Amino acid sequence: MRLSTGLKAREVDPSPPLEELRFQRCTWCSTVVFRTCLLCPVCASTDLPWQRGPATGKICGVIQVGRKGHGLRTDMVVELDNGVRVRCEVENAPIGLTAYGACVTAVGTAPNGMPLFRVDPVVREERW
Ligand SMILES: [Zn+2]
Repeated sequence: MRLSTGLKAREVDPSPPLEELRFQRCTWCSTVVFRTCLLCPVCASTDLPWQRGPATGKICGVIQVGRKGHGLRTDMVVELDNGVRVRCEVENAPIGLTAYGACVTAVGTAPNGMPLFRVDPVVREERW
């Protein structure tokens, strides 16, 4: 990644990949929440234990969210290796140019609180 502040451009090391994701899962409706919540956003249960999951998965969808007064925001849907589907941001995945099934790894949290993933480089043997 190249960071430019206008004064001096320099190379910035990309953030290291995470080894696992932490999330809350509702005991009653199985909803997964990635930011700290006291109530389940679906059923309002207070039974939200923390769990750990894999930080790797595959892109399985794209969602466009439109809000009045704001432009369209595009989020990706990633299916983690344990089957949980996560709405997230993927930092080096241009919309329309990234194939479904591309492998991704979690690298942190986006400014809006969603998990942030990065597309893994394609290994020559994995090419289709
Ligand atoms: Zn719930």
